[in-house]
Amino acid sequence: MDTPLDFSYETRPGRVVFRPGAAVSATPGEVARLGLHRVLVVCGSRGEVTARAVADALGGQCAGLHAEARMHVPAEVAARAVEVAREIRADGCVAVGGGSAIGLGKAIALRTGLPLIAVPSTYSGSEMTPVWGLTEDGAKRTGRDLAVQPRSVVYDPELTLGLPVPLSVTSGVNALAHAVEALYAPDASPLVSLMAEEGVRAMTGALPAVAAAPGDLDARSRALYGAWLCGACLGATTMGLHHKLCHVLGGTFGLPHAETHTVVLPYVLAYNASAAPRAIATLSRALGTDDVPRALRELARGLGAPSTLAELGLEEADLAVAAAQAAGQAYPNPREVTAHGVLGLLTAAYEGWEPRVGS
Ligand code: NAD
Repeated sequence: MDTPLDFSYETRPGRVVFRPGAAVSATPGEVARLGLHRVLVVCGSRGEVTARAVADALGGQCAGLHAEARMHVPAEVAARAVEVAREIRADGCVAVGGGSAIGLGKAIALRTGLPLIAVPSTYSGSEMTPVWGLTEDGAKRTGRDLAVQPRSVVYDPELTLGLPVPLSVTSGVNALAHAVEALYAPDASPLVSLMAEEGVRAMTGALPAVAAAPGDLDARSRALYGAWLCGACLGATTMGLHHKLCHVLGGTFGLPHAETHTVVLPYVLAYNASAAPRAIATLSRALGTDDVPRALRELARGLGAPSTLAELGLEEADLAVAAAQAAGQAYPNPREVTAHGVLGLLTAAYEGWEPRVGS
């Protein structure tokens, strides 16, 4: 330790249950624990079968199922879900699915104050955070509010057995990005850093096994365990350049969420490395390598993930616009964020060059 310890850490309310089969076996108990009797179950259209199984297990505790979640929570989708919750006089909400379904549950909680239970089926980490997002007129707004933090999170690795390998890999790297940025966040703390290190170790260890055998419950459990820890890091700290840049690329240019995180992360890490030596040392330990940006890129590429922004549909002319947008906002980052610096980073990610530390 080269500098004296200096940190604040706040524990967040919320309970976690982690077990194969928990979506069906544990959710009714979590609903009862919160004293709820008429919950609305929300999910996306592709997650309806799973959500219906949860609703069936809830029996009389469930007052309705609403399968309208969409990526980035369009405002009209949120408004309709709030209307449904009011119509059926729901006293709580259970969101079953990925970040999109949980995002819709958060929108309901934000507007109505209803308690939220999350049953995640991807590695996005949204279930562990008080961060909400809403998209209106093509622009995504986000904010923090403890009212949207799920009161209980039910992790069931069996739900992730059918998560397609490409999405498992990119969603897993999305989780890694939370841990990476938590390690150099201004509000980092020793406990969060331990969670980040263990989260990275668990997720990077599990992903090759998940890709090789997507139905392997042990590999799925280790990946979901990593996702929990990385999500907890996201909930506890303030994110930097990587998350802002992905937000710009998704919000302004419509790039897909998890894939964008996957392509960009090694390049942001290379950009920030010289200003975040302790984060790099922790990641080196977790990954067993001296070249963390390269190892992350090779891991994702080796498992078939996209590796350039060009592949994701970004145009070369967009690079300067995205760089200016990402540099034009205020947020903490270990290294100064300049439009020139971000343009260099984005160009490398667009072309798929080897990420070079300090460039
Ligand atoms: P997603 O929820 O949109 O899911 C992606 C696709 O995978 C969907 O078609 C979904 O139906 C499908 N899917 C989900 N789970 C599945 C499963 N187990 N098996 C088969 N298919 C499955 O994507 P995501 O990456 O989980 O979430 C992205 C969204 O979450 C974005 O809007 C992002 O901004 C938000 N997010 C928010 C936070 C936060 O803290 N607020 C954190 C991370 C992500």
